[in-house]
Amino acid sequence: MNITIIGAGLAGSEAALQLSKHGVDVTLIEMRPETTTPAHTTGFAAEMVCSNSLKSRLPGTAAGLLKSELRLLGCELLPIAQAHSVPAGNALAVDREAFAVAVTQRLTDDARISFIRAEVKEIPSGKVIIATGPLTPDALTEKLIALSGAEHLYFFDAIAPIVAADSIDMRICFKKSRYDKGDDDYINCPFEKDEYYNFVSALREGDKHEAKEFENKFFENIGFRFYENCIPVEELARRGEDTLRYGVMRPVGLERDGKRFYGVLQLRPETASLTAYNLVGCQTMLKYPEQKRILHLIPGLQNAEILRYGSIHRNTYLNSPNILNPDMSFREKSDCYLAGQLTGVEGYVESIYSGLLTALNILGKLPSLPDETICGQLRRHLLTPSKNFQPANANFGLLPPLETRIRAKPERKKAMADRALEKMEEWVTQNNKIIE
Ligand SMILES: Cc1cc2nc3c(=O)[nH]c(=O)nc-3n(C[C@H](O)[C@H](O)[C@H](O)COP(=O)(O)OP(=O)(O)OC[C@H]3O[C@@H](n4cnc5c(N)ncnc54)[C@H](O)[C@@H]3O)c2cc1C
Repeated sequence: MNITIIGAGLAGSEAALQLSKHGVDVTLIEMRPETTTPAHTTGFAAEMVCSNSLKSRLPGTAAGLLKSELRLLGCELLPIAQAHSVPAGNALAVDREAFAVAVTQRLTDDARISFIRAEVKEIPSGKVIIATGPLTPDALTEKLIALSGAEHLYFFDAIAPIVAADSIDMRICFKKSRYDKGDDDYINCPFEKDEYYNFVSALREGDKHEAKEFENKFFENIGFRFYENCIPVEELARRGEDTLRYGVMRPVGLERDGKRFYGVLQLRPETASLTAYNLVGCQTMLKYPEQKRILHLIPGLQNAEILRYGSIHRNTYLNSPNILNPDMSFREKSDCYLAGQLTGVEGYVESIYSGLLTALNILGKLPSLPDETICGQLRRHLLTPSKNFQPANANFGLLPPLETRIRAKPERKKAMADRALEKMEEWVTQNNKIIE
């Protein structure tokens, strides 16, 4: 069997490594670096385009649970991410370039994978996985529309700026994890009251990018939608003067010498060498000169060198429950499969999972995954028609309630996570021929 995979992103790379591991020959076609997207900057496979975080490692969180389930299912990308992780408290954050280089190396070294660089504009014949992501170019998007016959939905993301570590004023900023849990991975920018309100009003009044002509059409039709965890910081500031300091700039647990600040902006390491830091929660669609001006109002960042500005992007996905079979193939073309964010999952790890899921489906006979698991419920989400189908990420709300009610949230989540892992372990034992 030979399978063509279009797109060496997170989903396509995971699917290729899974298929190869099970003795299937793969032709993997990636358009970068010759043709790129508005968000990618390199030609490497599995490039992470916004945050460098794969979210929490803690088993009592939905993101942590999803990763634990994926490890049981034999996920290939997570160990590579682990090998290239950077300090980020309880989160699994990676040195994004080192991670992408390592994935590219694995793919090119794999004798069963033929890695080709070209933009695919027509769906090739034979068995094929389309994993071209939320920024699929127009030519292939048109083919997808023709194939699915379904309405395409669009929404928009904003990404956060990155600053150079040696330009941060550490006489003002300080290193500390919230409540001193974990290592001192984050750098904190402390705000006094007047500094905070000055920053908020600058954000509110800042000049932002106007939507392009084609995007405006969609504003009128469906409204402006953001990836939930990427709401632009200026949008949050507009919602209320104190929204930021009760949210992403919460000062609680970040006191210095017993002093609590009015607000604290956290910076997360972007690279293993700690040379660059990401402004946590500061995704923005402000114009670049405005970003520079407003960012320099942040205590400790007065002279910060901006290595990457925030920006705005289109995001595309299909209405999977209406167009796909349970094995993720198109109803109209059963040798053509879908994977990644295009299917209606949302997030890096969810996209990796989707690549794994589609590969396991192709390897054959994937019986339904346990309902008690995040993986099982994300799969169900992709197959269950709804009036207003929206992308889903890992969250405890997906899981069925426990048989015995537990009132305290942390204990309840832990019990749900324990149940999920137990069910997944059972499933893996019963299906070891598929995933071993
Ligand atoms: C701007 C932006 C920011 C995001 N930020 C986050 C975040 O911070 N955290 C998070 O968890 N999720 C984030 N997401 C959501 C999502 O997790 C990522 O987009 C994720 O990379 C999706 O994985 P994927 O494999 O489906 O697509 P991608 O990783 O985008 O991979 C698709 C690949 O296909 C290639 N390709 C596309 N079309 C063709 C073609 N016609 N021929 C050949 N190759 C093609 C692309 O070059 C790319 O390499 C973000 C999404 C966007 C758009």
